[in-house]
Amino acid sequence: MFRNFKLVPNVIFGRGCFSQLDEIIEKVRENSNAWVVFVTDDVFKGEQLEKRLPLHDQDMILWVNAEDEPKTSYVDSLTQKVKDYASTQPCAVVGIGGGSSMDLAKAVSLMLTNPGSSVKYQGWDLIQNPAVYHIAVPTLSGTGAEVSRTAVLTGPEKKLGLNSDYTVFDQIVLDPELLATVPNDQYFYTGMDCYIHCIESLEGTYLNEFSKAYGEKALDLCRQVFIDNHPDRNDKLMMASFFGGMSIAYSQVGACHALSYGLAFVLGTHHGIGCCITFDYLEEFYPDGVKEFRKMMEKYNITLPRNLVKDLPEDDIELMVTTALGLDPLWENCLGKDWKNIMTRDKARSLFLKM
Ligand code: NAD
Ligand code: ZN
Repeated sequence: MFRNFKLVPNVIFGRGCFSQLDEIIEKVRENSNAWVVFVTDDVFKGEQLEKRLPLHDQDMILWVNAEDEPKTSYVDSLTQKVKDYASTQPCAVVGIGGGSSMDLAKAVSLMLTNPGSSVKYQGWDLIQNPAVYHIAVPTLSGTGAEVSRTAVLTGPEKKLGLNSDYTVFDQIVLDPELLATVPNDQYFYTGMDCYIHCIESLEGTYLNEFSKAYGEKALDLCRQVFIDNHPDRNDKLMMASFFGGMSIAYSQVGACHALSYGLAFVLGTHHGIGCCITFDYLEEFYPDGVKEFRKMMEKYNITLPRNLVKDLPEDDIELMVTTALGLDPLWENCLGKDWKNIMTRDKARSLFLKM
């Protein structure tokens, strides 16, 4: 069976295009009572971007914090705040920030129209009702969250997204100028998420021409950003993130993502840095990719944290292994159908112990 997957229907791209946001939203403000919720990364509180939000009188700014990766309990409380704000539904939810804020916006837009806790919907195609119209404005590029059909959430039992066609944004606003304030290390970590998406997709057994076309272009753009330090690097990274996301949408990620999910679930390690920590030990699976990654790391003057795992209690290490090995499709993409004979518990454990 081939997947028939949904794409973002409207995309605006270009430096300064954020100033067209009001005009874009205007189309869904159907009457004078219509209101919008701006799910905005609180790093922008008091900053220039806050002043540029096209707020109308009745609109709501919902500040969100990206220090921890999005949790189901956080999504539930944010959704409740929006419900308490007015007796009507907002006409649009706008997510402004990196992968965390975009995922929170996706999740809130879904939970406004689907009853109960977001925990109920962690999985594939469990969402019943279409979301409130939702828009993404990335301010950090690499995750591909702007194009994906998932909102990744950590719940009480698992880190698993709300995967559905309804999750896909209705509109994305890609303004490379918004990346100007990202700190160097964060720029690198999230950018490497994109680089690793490309390597895992292009080196995987699920590869097809669709994923290859997007993956090769995204990889080329990543090299222009992280090796050539191109003067238009923000424009390039924004498009790399989009294309990298498109590439994995029709293939899969691989070993690095599977293992980094183990780190995230047990230690709360953020996605971008977690992927970097893990990828550095995967030369065996992605020899050329890891070599190039190290070169990029040197160019960006990055030092990764080490020795995160070896002194952990045995139960934690076991939980990491179980979490990572639970992601069957990722391993099958990386190692083929016989993956269980290659990536044994002992092997996964030995990789974690190096980190
Ligand atoms: P993030 O959104 O967690 O943000 C990282 C840090 O950068 C935060 O402190 C944030 O405040 C700051 N930041 C963001 N934009 C900034 C700007 N312009 N200037 C200054 N600081 C800025 O980071 P991320 O790497 O983009 O996202 C990671 C999250 O995305 C994880 O929760 C991960 O699970 C999720 N993710 C989702 C998908 C998907 O398809 N939905 C894919 C990959 C990752
Ligand atoms: Zn990723």
